[in-house]
Amino acid sequence: MANIIKEILKTLPDDKISDSVFEGANIVLYTKDKEYFLNNEGTIRDAVNEFKKRIELRPDPSITEKQEETQKLIKSLMPEDTGLSNIIFDAQRSQVIIEVEKPGIAIGKQGSILREIKEKTMWVPIVRRTPAIKCELIENIRGVLYENNDFRRKFLNKVGERVYAGWTKGRKEEWVRLTYLGSGRHVGRSCILLQTPESKILLDCGVDVSAPDEHAYPYFDCPEFKIEDLDAVIVSHAHLDHSAIIPLLFKYGYQGPIYCTEPTRDIMALLQLDLVKIMRMEGKEPIYTSDEVKEMVKNTIIVGFDEVTDITPDVRITFYNAGHILGSAMVHIHIGNGLHNLLYSADIKYMKSRLLAPAITKFPRLESMMLESTYGGKDCTMPSREVSENEFAEIVMKTIERGGKVLVPVLGSGRAQEIMLIIESLIREEKMKEVSVWVDGMVWDITAIHTAYPEYMNSTIRKRIMHKDQNPFLAPFLKRVGSNKERKQITEEEGPCVILATSGMMTGGPSVEYFKELAEGEKNTIIFVSYLGPGSLGRRVASGEKEIGFQTSANKREVLKVNMEVHQMDGFSGHAGRNELMDFVQNCNPRPRKIILNHGEVSRALDLASSIHKKYRIETSCPKNLEAIRLR
Ligand code: ZN
Repeated sequence: MANIIKEILKTLPDDKISDSVFEGANIVLYTKDKEYFLNNEGTIRDAVNEFKKRIELRPDPSITEKQEETQKLIKSLMPEDTGLSNIIFDAQRSQVIIEVEKPGIAIGKQGSILREIKEKTMWVPIVRRTPAIKCELIENIRGVLYENNDFRRKFLNKVGERVYAGWTKGRKEEWVRLTYLGSGRHVGRSCILLQTPESKILLDCGVDVSAPDEHAYPYFDCPEFKIEDLDAVIVSHAHLDHSAIIPLLFKYGYQGPIYCTEPTRDIMALLQLDLVKIMRMEGKEPIYTSDEVKEMVKNTIIVGFDEVTDITPDVRITFYNAGHILGSAMVHIHIGNGLHNLLYSADIKYMKSRLLAPAITKFPRLESMMLESTYGGKDCTMPSREVSENEFAEIVMKTIERGGKVLVPVLGSGRAQEIMLIIESLIREEKMKEVSVWVDGMVWDITAIHTAYPEYMNSTIRKRIMHKDQNPFLAPFLKRVGSNKERKQITEEEGPCVILATSGMMTGGPSVEYFKELAEGEKNTIIFVSYLGPGSLGRRVASGEKEIGFQTSANKREVLKVNMEVHQMDGFSGHAGRNELMDFVQNCNPRPRKIILNHGEVSRALDLASSIHKKYRIETSCPKNLEAIRLR
């Protein structure tokens, strides 16, 4: 037993604790004493205050009520309208997981229903939201976690033993170092190695989707990177340029924890599985399989926003809302008991969007910051949301009125849901007449994941979903497209409508298929809302090419005339524009002494670095890949 548990036990009454275990950085104590479990007179709370760790008291499995009886009681206590869908027992942890549509109702007034379950059965009830739109992936992930309960218990205990190895109060360390394995002066393959005397931690591990193979992966051959020495991997958000390579780490033997938010885990698993599928379809050998994605899920430790979590003996992290996509986090890293505080911004949006709140700027302490610079150049200012939304509405309405169809190529996560929310509000506020909005497969699946996690959205939309029962994603005019046959029906038979489909740049995916069907119709419109990579079909169409050649079979080419109306809009970006980035730095409290710019093309990163230095007198740098920076 590690030292910390011995120290905690010394502060608690004798003979009350029957067992103790780590669940990651959390310390779980078990008791066989019913009285002590229900009323420990603040002894556990006192221990939490003294040790500043999360300590949870649970009943020993031997004193819990029979599962059948407990199930009956839970069913009788749950009000009709909770939408109870599942009750799952985790016997070794004395926990019962109650899956419902409306967690707020299931909990009861000030937790009264849960308290009653606890008192009468000695089970610890945990309420979990069933997504409002059926989501196979979430069911699968929850299934994998339940099935591998035994593995999870041992794994989480091992992680805890590592976190508390050499645990002492008031330890001092001397240095902190960052090495860029990717995303140095570049957008794509985000991957940074953080080292301290006690820890080796990877911040993100992504791919460069548009690069040829040898430049697509992070620099794993860098001398200081050894997979077997890695203590932890932290994932800021689910986009593939931050998460795609993680399953590969497991293929190469990594066995440690992955830290991320719950929506990030689900969306990245979905995107990774899709990546495997696409590689197979293109006749390539996938770089990993669904087995490694499953390994990743088994090794993931969920951290919510604003929760402080120890991940190694000298590193403690806190996730803050980044405003970029659902579940996207900035990572605050507290090193060596106050020696250094670093913020990894990853991708941020510093503006309220329809879906999310802007990135946080208030931190407990901050000496250094790694900041993205995707739109860091002086010329990268963006029109306001309001202007963009009005323009978007006008284009859509004009097209609908003349009997045309609107195609919006989107990334599966982020922009797509934003566009759905804009259309929903236009129709609800009767600014636009009701039309069908066809949401293609992948976009629909990611939207379904959104419906499981309203607590990650901004307060306006959260209130609508949680309290007012007006989930905008359930609006009747939002409809799923599942098959090729349905796609054909929409383009050939359906009247005026809006279609949302991946990919955003039209480098592949259903958006290209819709485009082929709709491009020649003069009444139709295409609206690009994502970044368009050089050479992509999206960029060509947006820049005015009117004839596009397609290879239809081995020796046949067809030329497609683009007669449809073409628009490109920058105002919906999930990234902060130049002004937002400058404002973000200005409003950071405390303001960092050093800012390291990454995740941006060379000229933009350098431009932002020099402007921040001139305006705020903060030391800046723009490391290249393979370059290392010593922070202390
Ligand atoms: Zn991103």
